Amino acid sequence: MSVDFPIPMNERERLESLINFNILEKMPESELEPLVKAASQIAHCPVGVLSINEEQRHLIKSKTGLSIYDMQSDFDFCQIVFRKQSFYEIPDAYQHPEMSKSLMVVGQPNFRYFGGIPLITPEGHSIGSLCVIDHFPKQLNAEQIAGIKAIAEQIILLLKLRKQNKNLQAELNQLIHDKVNQAEIDLASYKFALDQSAEVAITDRDGFIKFANDKFCISSGYQRAELLGQPYKILNSGYHSHEFFRDMWQTIQNGKVWHGEIKNVNKSGRSYWVDCQIIPFPDKKGRPHQYVAIQQDITVKKSSLERLKLETVLISILSENAPLEPTMKKLCEQICRFLRWDLGIFWKLDTHISRMKAGAIVPFTFRDLSPLISLCETHQFSKGEGLVGYVWVNRKPRWVDDLDLEPNFLKQAVTDEVGLKSALIFPIISNNQIKGVMEFFSTNKNQSDNHMIEMFETFGLQIGSYLDRRDAENELIMAKKVAEESVKSKDLFLTNMSHEIRTPMNAIIGFTQLLQKSKLDKDQLEYANSVKTAARNLLGIINDILDFSKIESGVVNLESGAGNLRELFRNIHDLLKFSAANKSLNFNTNIDERIPVTIYCDSIRLNQILINLVGNAIKFTDIGSVSLNAELVKISHDTCTIKFSVNDTGIGIPADKQDKIFDRFNQVNNEINRKYEGTGLGLSISKNLVELMGGSLELESEDGEGSSFHFDLSFKYDNHFIEHSSQHGLTIRTDNRLHRILLIEDNVLNQKLARNVLESQGFEVDIADNGIEGLSILRNTPYDLILMDIQMPELDGYNTTEIIRRELQLNTPIIAMTAHSIVGEKEKCLAAGMNDFISKPFDQDELYRKINQTLKNRDKVFEVSTPATVNEEDDLSYLMELSNGNPEFEKEMIKLFIHQVPKEMINLHKAFEDHEYQKICDISHKLKSSVDIFDRKDLSGHLRNIMDDAKTGKMTEKMELELRAIDTFLDGYIPKLTKLLTENYN
Ligand code: ADP
Repeated sequence: MSVDFPIPMNERERLESLINFNILEKMPESELEPLVKAASQIAHCPVGVLSINEEQRHLIKSKTGLSIYDMQSDFDFCQIVFRKQSFYEIPDAYQHPEMSKSLMVVGQPNFRYFGGIPLITPEGHSIGSLCVIDHFPKQLNAEQIAGIKAIAEQIILLLKLRKQNKNLQAELNQLIHDKVNQAEIDLASYKFALDQSAEVAITDRDGFIKFANDKFCISSGYQRAELLGQPYKILNSGYHSHEFFRDMWQTIQNGKVWHGEIKNVNKSGRSYWVDCQIIPFPDKKGRPHQYVAIQQDITVKKSSLERLKLETVLISILSENAPLEPTMKKLCEQICRFLRWDLGIFWKLDTHISRMKAGAIVPFTFRDLSPLISLCETHQFSKGEGLVGYVWVNRKPRWVDDLDLEPNFLKQAVTDEVGLKSALIFPIISNNQIKGVMEFFSTNKNQSDNHMIEMFETFGLQIGSYLDRRDAENELIMAKKVAEESVKSKDLFLTNMSHEIRTPMNAIIGFTQLLQKSKLDKDQLEYANSVKTAARNLLGIINDILDFSKIESGVVNLESGAGNLRELFRNIHDLLKFSAANKSLNFNTNIDERIPVTIYCDSIRLNQILINLVGNAIKFTDIGSVSLNAELVKISHDTCTIKFSVNDTGIGIPADKQDKIFDRFNQVNNEINRKYEGTGLGLSISKNLVELMGGSLELESEDGEGSSFHFDLSFKYDNHFIEHSSQHGLTIRTDNRLHRILLIEDNVLNQKLARNVLESQGFEVDIADNGIEGLSILRNTPYDLILMDIQMPELDGYNTTEIIRRELQLNTPIIAMTAHSIVGEKEKCLAAGMNDFISKPFDQDELYRKINQTLKNRDKVFEVSTPATVNEEDDLSYLMELSNGNPEFEKEMIKLFIHQVPKEMINLHKAFEDHEYQKICDISHKLKSSVDIFDRKDLSGHLRNIMDDAKTGKMTEKMELELRAIDTFLDGYIPKLTKLLTENYN
């Protein structure tokens, strides 16, 4: 029989509490057992029970002293206690109204005593009870009750902790679960990403494939099943060396990651490049037991890089501009290297026979390809014949994977012999014209590759434009050669013309000069004057034309020497003052006094420009004045810029003609010019010369108002000493009595002229008709000087001079006389061993001066000069001439001499003592410049001798003697100048 118990009021919350404690499912709970045991022991009861009350039932969770099966599931006493608030006992069940009916009391196991305490949660819900039971009636004391109570509390605590633990466990599980889930998701996405971006394969330690992802399968061209179990090397393209793979294996077997680029070959034979990382995975013993290869296809990148490399190499070969054959050989070689193929051939189209011929054959292998090469050397392809002819017709590249299957291939038998398998042929095209074909062979079968085909098609175009460029350059070179030849022949023509015209002109002018000096009546003299004027004009025109041609051919080189602008202006004034006076024109020259005395310029050309401009100004001015001016524009420590201007008040030049007058053969108005004469070349020559000197000839003019021509030029200058050229217009004083001259000249007129000119000055003259005769005379007779014509039949002047110097060993001074007026002629004469040069037609005064100078030099060179003495004529006339009658200038110059020369002499002595030959030269040169102003040629000669000897770098006795001679001279000369200064210039 069971006892009925009412349902507690807060049953729902209580049940929730129970559920929370999570003790309902667990039956029984062994971990609670020790506590139940402890309670029964405290109560000295054989039985202890822990039960939980669930809705209508109570569950025994733990017990001691009883088999659980002995217990009734609806143990009445538990139901009672469960509803109590604290410890409750029934000392004797027989006495208890309800329990006395309980089956456990009335029947087995005959319990009499029941004690129990409800299990109350901190929230106040009773969830069950802890009971102790005995077969005998009894009553627990307070201590025992307290003990049981403590145990009940412990049970609640335990349950609570368990609940918390459980919650924690659940949370932990959730956490782990979440983490694992996340990790799985991550892994899946990584794998996805890896699969998308990389080819992945795993091999065992022997390199047999265990895994391959889709990407790997796709790029290898194999099904996964075909790959698994295969060795990795089924992808080996044969491109890499054994060493390459040996290094790779060594790295991964040592447990390190290997990284590199590998060229693989796929199932269909196409090669592809991968950037590969191989990661070894170690087993428990740390030895790699599998390798993971992660790789990326870099074929496109690699081939564009390779292509770029090849392109760069090919372009650099093409731009070397080497001859065709080596260029094409290099190209074949580079392409073979790039393709790793064995043979390259350049077939060049011979347009004359319409055949392709081998222009370069380059084997790039150790194999013996000679049968094929000999065939190629002799064979010529016609259009459409063989692969070459095929590409010629189709103008597109051809890639032949397997030559055995190629019907167009003619060399089959031979290639079988040498073992060629694949071919690539591409056309060389330029301007839509086929120029040739390039053909390459490989001993491997190579799958056609569209990238490559495209690339070589482009190369074909590049090579085509190179061939075009070469052809154009060859044409240009030919044209240049022709042009150079024509310049050369023009030059030769000019030289000959110059000679042919000048030789008779020489005679005309020379004889007229002689005629003028003979006894003539007034009319005759006038005729003679006219002849001379006309001849000089004609010579001027010829000179202009020659000059112009030379400038035009670019053969004019400017020379730069020390020049004196004041002297130059004076000469121009002297030369043209009569023409100006004839037209009653006021003609003056003005020089800015700040302009340095010595400027470095080509005096002859500057003179030519200015004479032309002043000549024109006088020519085209009838009333008024003409002036030649030089103004200092700017000056730095060594360079000065001078503005030259020629102004006139003449007829002027209309604005619309001003541009044209600088053109050759251009004159403003033919009518006017008939009146004024001229060639129309002068301004063109002057303009060109000014430009050669770095300036620009400008014109300002108004019709009827006059003209101004001007230009700026910059010159280096030297202000220390005044150097002057030898043409200073001194009166020539010659001592001719003792001098014998041999004239070697083939032209009879010139012979006569020269003899007259020379004999009239008291020279003794012998004549040789040509070089050979001259030599035979010289072998027997000594002469003081030889005048040598250059252009002579049989033996010309240069060769004759060489024989005189080398074979005859004669030092007799030689002056060249030549009608050549070409650039460099003088240098050529000096180089041949001559001493000076005069051009025909010669000016008689100039000839005398040159003879005199040469003879004097010879005396200086061959004899140690005697010390100069102060007693020699102290001629200051040159200084006075220089000063233009300016006593201040003369005073300044004398003062400078007195102060500077002794100082420089001290320096010169020091340089002598120190054996500093360069210094000796420099100081002597400076001194010579100063001394020349005072026209002390004797002193000048000593200094020149010192300079000449010092150049040899040795101290000679002669040098010392010369130095002593200068000292002696200056000892007397300086006091004399000092006296002069105080007496005449104060
Ligand atoms: P040419 O004087 O031999 O005719 P140029 O080349 O020296 O040749 O001069 C070309 C032309 O320029 C002259 O013919 C003349 O018409 C004009 N011209 C040159 N200088 C002057 C000037 N100072 N005044 C006027 N006209 C000039």
